Amino acid sequence: MTTPHWLFGDQLGPHFLGPGPDGADGPGRDAPVVMIEARSVFRRRRFHRAKAHLVLSAMRHRAAELGDRVRYVRAETYREGLAKAVGGGPVTVCHPTSRAALRFVESLDHVTVLPPRGFLVAHEDFRRWADGRDGQRLLQEDFYRRVRRAHDLLMDGDSPAGGRWNHDHDNREPPPKGVRALDVPAPYRPREDAVDEEVRDDLDRWEKDDGISFVGRDGPRRFPASRREALAALRRFAEHRLAGFGAHEDAMLAGDPVLSHSLLSSSLNLGLLDPAECVELAEQAWRSGDAPVNSAEGFVRQIAGWREYVWHLYWYFGEEYRHRNALGHRAPLPDWFLELDADAVTARCLSTVLAQVRDTGWTHHIPRLMVLGSHALQQGWDPAAVTDWFHRCFVDGYDWVMLPNVVGMSQYADGGRMTTKPYTSGGAYIHRMSDLCGPCAYRPTDRTGEGACPFTAGYWAFLHRHRERLEGNPRMTRAVRGLDRLRDLDELLEERAERGDAAP
Ligand code: FAD
Ligand code: SF4
Repeated sequence: MTTPHWLFGDQLGPHFLGPGPDGADGPGRDAPVVMIEARSVFRRRRFHRAKAHLVLSAMRHRAAELGDRVRYVRAETYREGLAKAVGGGPVTVCHPTSRAALRFVESLDHVTVLPPRGFLVAHEDFRRWADGRDGQRLLQEDFYRRVRRAHDLLMDGDSPAGGRWNHDHDNREPPPKGVRALDVPAPYRPREDAVDEEVRDDLDRWEKDDGISFVGRDGPRRFPASRREALAALRRFAEHRLAGFGAHEDAMLAGDPVLSHSLLSSSLNLGLLDPAECVELAEQAWRSGDAPVNSAEGFVRQIAGWREYVWHLYWYFGEEYRHRNALGHRAPLPDWFLELDADAVTARCLSTVLAQVRDTGWTHHIPRLMVLGSHALQQGWDPAAVTDWFHRCFVDGYDWVMLPNVVGMSQYADGGRMTTKPYTSGGAYIHRMSDLCGPCAYRPTDRTGEGACPFTAGYWAFLHRHRERLEGNPRMTRAVRGLDRLRDLDELLEERAERGDAAP
């Protein structure tokens, strides 16, 4: 009999079954499939309810598609589920996406671990590149160009199509003035079905009778839970929304949280979409004249550059990376943040973004980096707790994607291994890139007094606290020296100390 194959809940697309790319080992074409819904996962962490809903709905949709081929087991733990499904018999599984899951499957003699799927670049290729850097920084830009060449992505012969590797310069436009929303077609939204109803009933029961607790609001489901839905979302994006992706990639609008973003991260991370098909469609859209090169390149960079880079850094940096805390930040996260209590917050940027997370489990990359992450960094919150928060509260959050993005990129807890400088700013940046400051109770220019913007004051307090370390960083020297021109620094620090961690 063919060996059964175990699918984790983030291995749900067709590319996780059958032979691997270039003939790599894979489960037999008709191998029976095992899926395990382990409730202990939800007991260990307080997830956003919309995320729990999405993952369970996606797993159950996949099981329904596979029909009699799948043995779908509900159990307390993976160990118990596996014993129910295959006893001690042989089973194959594709390389899981977290270190904990990899340790677990490798500890079981009867489980054969196959190479990872769902990424463009193999571990060995990345390692060869990274080891060959000879102590130089592992720059995303260098890695990305290598991926473009190796996969012949947006290339004209040996040159980048459109004449440049990087169109970031054209992709940092503030939002158009005086608009509440970008003038682009709406994104794809799925329609809930009987599977969602069943999931919702189960989650209600778990909360009521089983001591499991969630955060955030659940519903209606906003992200694809099946291959069919994910493909519809990808096609809608490529055909109708990609053209506008580039220019306003970094902008924020209070009334339009999505702008031209693709909303595909959860589908990619659930394994419903293969990154190759996403970047190929973007390239086709450019070649057929349906999207400008800055948009197509910007999107390809996100997937073939950033997503791949983050995945490989997770494995390359090793287990101890999650404990890095180069800035010695130890403060706990306050309750208003943990509870996503947007209504407790006066600062309009933070309140708006926290409400987006509370209501949907998603916000785009600039609110994550320059509002939520920047505030955590300025407040000196424990980076491991911040990482855990992002992991639990975002529909697309998984261990592999969180660690580099939060420990490295957002909290600078790796001391600059991933980024050349900390990502944080005063209110001026948020003011320039959004419509959030106008009606806010604070003023982005004010450092002290009643109208002091928490981001502006927080920025200077952060520079002051880490002056010694940051002064030596050529990209920060000028900013740090700016402290010497502040006549109200003492007052600013006093006011911040008085506020403590109260919601700003
Ligand atoms: P788009 O803006 O449309 O981008 C297209 C795709 O590129 C995304 O769907 C995603 O798959 C990929 N991508 C872009 N940047 C990254 C990145 N840095 N890391 C991984 N993939 C990337 N992304 C996640 O998928 N899961 C996370 O948990 C996550 N946490 C983040 C936390 C912080 C602090 C920051 C700064 C970024 C994080 N990101 C995360 C990256 C990025 O914010 C999201 O991928 C993106 O906002 C998802 O929305 P979208 O699908 O509309 O993305
Ligand atoms: Fe945020 Fe400051 Fe602007 Fe208010 S003034 S929205 S707190 S950046």
